[in-house]
Amino acid sequence: MRTYPAILGGEPAFAEQVPVSRPTTPPAEPLLRRVRDVLDSAMLTNGRHVREFEAEVAGFLGVGHAVAVSNCTVGLMLLLRCLGLRGSVVLPSFTFMATAHAVAWNRLGIRFVDVDAATWTVDPDSAAAGAVGAAGDAVAAVLAVHTFGAPCAVPPLSAVAVRHRVPLLFDAAHGFGAKYPDGTAVGTGGTAEVFSLSPTKQLSAGEGGLVTTNDGDLARELRVAREYGNPGDYDSAFVGLNARLPELSALLGRASLAEFPQWLERRRATALRYRANLADVPGVTFQQVPEGALSSAKDLTIRIDESHFGMSRDRLAACLSAERVATRCYFYPPVHRQRAYRQVTPSVSLPETETLAASVLTLPLYSHLSADVVDRICEAIRTIQQAADLIGESAPVGIGAPDPTNL
Ligand SMILES: *Cc1c(COP(=O)(O)O)cnc(C)c1O
Repeated sequence: MRTYPAILGGEPAFAEQVPVSRPTTPPAEPLLRRVRDVLDSAMLTNGRHVREFEAEVAGFLGVGHAVAVSNCTVGLMLLLRCLGLRGSVVLPSFTFMATAHAVAWNRLGIRFVDVDAATWTVDPDSAAAGAVGAAGDAVAAVLAVHTFGAPCAVPPLSAVAVRHRVPLLFDAAHGFGAKYPDGTAVGTGGTAEVFSLSPTKQLSAGEGGLVTTNDGDLARELRVAREYGNPGDYDSAFVGLNARLPELSALLGRASLAEFPQWLERRRATALRYRANLADVPGVTFQQVPEGALSSAKDLTIRIDESHFGMSRDRLAACLSAERVATRCYFYPPVHRQRAYRQVTPSVSLPETETLAASVLTLPLYSHLSADVVDRICEAIRTIQQAADLIGESAPVGIGAPDPTNL
């Protein structure tokens, strides 16, 4: 057994870098035949594969409508636009920057609220407090995020939205395949949910997004919005965008959706394996998934308590890099600390977000990641933790940590 961490000159756990995420792709041959058909038909956009993909997604999720768009960011932008909102949107800062960008592009106000220390999703109490703004600054919507695939607590967030008579929306970029405690799929919650089909997400079309809703009028409006706001008569009804999903991407999405149930099962099994493996490592904890809910296991993110683990999150990331295990600090810095937002919300106080963002580390997870690799990553973390005193704070730190062979 390996007992010497690579950062101290031991043999790295892996001969080649283990990436944080890798898209799983569907079998190539049947897909390539369909690609040839699309090329022959010369219907490269606005064709039958987008329509069929939308119908298959709506059926899979059990939702009234799925509107395919070119990515999740524009899906969120168009959703906020179609709802005709005025005022400020309540949203977490502990999220990917695109959640806030969609609000900012619509020139809506931003009210960052805190996350729950256990679930890492929007804290309903903080959302309730954040929804009460200064006079003249009405709340426009609540936009929550199913962080890392764990569904948000819908009933208390819904209560906040109902109290202010505003829509409850979800950035479901991480949520495809997740289930709410009542057994319904993420995608059916609130007024609308928006998924991402980018290659780091669990279901991919290369690039792409999906807005899902049970509101037929909203779905119709979104279909016009993704088409420049042109209802078909070239008399644009409002300022839309070109946000169409190309036919070739829809093909990839359809072929991926057919395989998705198996991929999801493997992801969940891999996430459970990490949890079981690392359960007794001091100072390592996991995101809590609400009772009865099912995470999509988009990411496997651990939280490092420095005082128990023996070193900081950043030091662990450097040690794992030396083992040739790639990691990411999702989400650090939190959005309100990013340069684009520091001026927007200079005085916001988000204590849980600050502590969480400083202590999370995302480990490799993708549906075809082997159990053996997971076991070796966990073993490496255990070895690093046991050598924490030896490693100390003296070793160099940083992404692209020292080449262990030079030590
Ligand atoms: C990836 C991601 C997005 C953006 O999705 P795109 O399809 O790349 O535009 C938005 N929100 C969250 C939480 C994400 O992780």
